[in-house]
Amino acid sequence: MTNDQITSFDLIIVGAGTAGIPCAIEAAKAGVKRILVIEKSTVIGGTLHWTVGHLSGGGTNRQKAHGIKDSPEKHCAEVMRISEHSADAVITKLATEEAPKTLNWLESLGFPFDKDCPKIIFGHVPYTTARTHYANVARGGVVMLSLLLPLWEEWVKKGVITPLLGASLKDVLCENGAVKGVRVQSRGEAHEYYAPAIVLTTGGYAANPKFFAETLPEAPPLFSTANHTSLGEGIQAAMRIGAKFHHAEKHNVSLGGIETVPNSQRVDYWDAWASVFSSAYRKTREIYVNDDGNRFMNEDEPSADIRERAVMKQANWRFWVIFDEHALRTSCEENEPLVRQWITPEMVRSHAARGTYCRTASSVGELAEKCGLAWQNVENAVTLFNAQFQDTFANQEDEFGRAAFHAPLQEAPFYALRINASSLISFGGLAVNGDLQVLNTEGSPIQGLYAAGEILGAAATSGHAFCGGMLITPALSFGRLLGQRLGSRIKS
Ligand SMILES: Cc1cc2nc3c(=O)[nH]c(=O)nc-3n(C[C@H](O)[C@H](O)[C@H](O)COP(=O)(O)OP(=O)(O)OC[C@H]3O[C@@H](n4cnc5c(N)ncnc54)[C@H](O)[C@@H]3O)c2cc1C
Repeated sequence: MTNDQITSFDLIIVGAGTAGIPCAIEAAKAGVKRILVIEKSTVIGGTLHWTVGHLSGGGTNRQKAHGIKDSPEKHCAEVMRISEHSADAVITKLATEEAPKTLNWLESLGFPFDKDCPKIIFGHVPYTTARTHYANVARGGVVMLSLLLPLWEEWVKKGVITPLLGASLKDVLCENGAVKGVRVQSRGEAHEYYAPAIVLTTGGYAANPKFFAETLPEAPPLFSTANHTSLGEGIQAAMRIGAKFHHAEKHNVSLGGIETVPNSQRVDYWDAWASVFSSAYRKTREIYVNDDGNRFMNEDEPSADIRERAVMKQANWRFWVIFDEHALRTSCEENEPLVRQWITPEMVRSHAARGTYCRTASSVGELAEKCGLAWQNVENAVTLFNAQFQDTFANQEDEFGRAAFHAPLQEAPFYALRINASSLISFGGLAVNGDLQVLNTEGSPIQGLYAAGEILGAAATSGHAFCGGMLITPALSFGRLLGQRLGSRIKS
């Protein structure tokens, strides 16, 4: 029989991404002989192609080498503090216990850590200890994938891992309360594959506006910057056999996405991402106004969490950044561009000339009208802001608590850039126990069904907040852990 005709395996992994690839490799290493990996894309890697790849771990070899005292317990306690105890205590404990092992493993594979890491990073609420690890290139996930590929291919060549690419999970098959296989759609046809253990690693649903709206009806339409494959199909297939889905209400967003293709509700993280997520790394020369044209927050607020939540209180979870020619020029001169990738004033002007998301005008009132904002409100906001530069107001906090004022907004032309709070990841997910077994709505494990990665929801290891590195690190760790545990149990 050729591989194509075999339908029974020892282990089926659905999704060959961040969690799925290490799961397959570890299961193969542990002695499982027949592993089927079902992947709907024609290439493997999933969000590894897309992610920044900031990892976190307490007690890593790299921390020790840098004289940083840390431990999984401290890491876990900080995640619980940052998430205000809204993360799952059992899953977070497991994730933080496994994190240093995962980071040491990546190091052993030759992961090119940046020389300055581990570091405290301010893109999210910071840890108090330097425990964020990252690569010496921007796309850390791509480097990770390049290290995993040779291991993967070795087992594929040996016939231990059978990748089924371009095949999409449709249903999880059950018999007498236990899973027995999966139904997939491949080249227009349905196929069934069987195994006593199935691991779902199909990722989150942050690229699926419909499912997002169903699970969080009070939210405005989703602006997504997630991998296109993150449609929540694994979650929905598990729900159809009674799995419990929870924590959608813990959703949090990231700033600041720019919708360069009108009405696409898509944001390209690597092409147009405004550096408004935190003022820790740049001077805020601008003001923000909401859809009514009113200011609503201290633009200089350093906490990413406070900034994100302030935007989530505005209509449509979006706002306009208002700035002038002086702010544009000085931000580029000082290497602090408002949009990371738009590094010269000419680039910003060309976006303003052709974009609906960026506008320019010779007066503030005209700018507001071009953006569809109430011009009186925007003019009023700029006038009040500029008043801070008069002697009577100098060095005083304004009504939003802003104390840092670099220059008035008075040099034409003026600019407005629309920023959408965007979703890189999804917070809801499948409920699992400490063995990563998927639970049903009664809280009992569904026999033979396991899950790892973002399918568990960011809330499992981050609660309602963003905790640095607490998505990709648990995805890799839990994938590995399930491969090892199931491997030692299954061994063909
Ligand atoms: C721009 C960006 C930056 C990020 N930066 C960070 C960061 O710095 N730190 C951090 O901790 N997290 C970060 N994240 C999040 C993190 O990268 C992801 O949560 C993690 O990589 C998800 O891993 P996963 O294995 O669950 O899913 P994926 O890696 O997406 O893998 C899922 C796989 O399943 C496949 N699949 C989906 N549906 C089906 C189906 N029906 N049938 C078969 N296959 C299917 C997909 O094609 C994919 O290959 C970032 C995310 C994004 C988008």
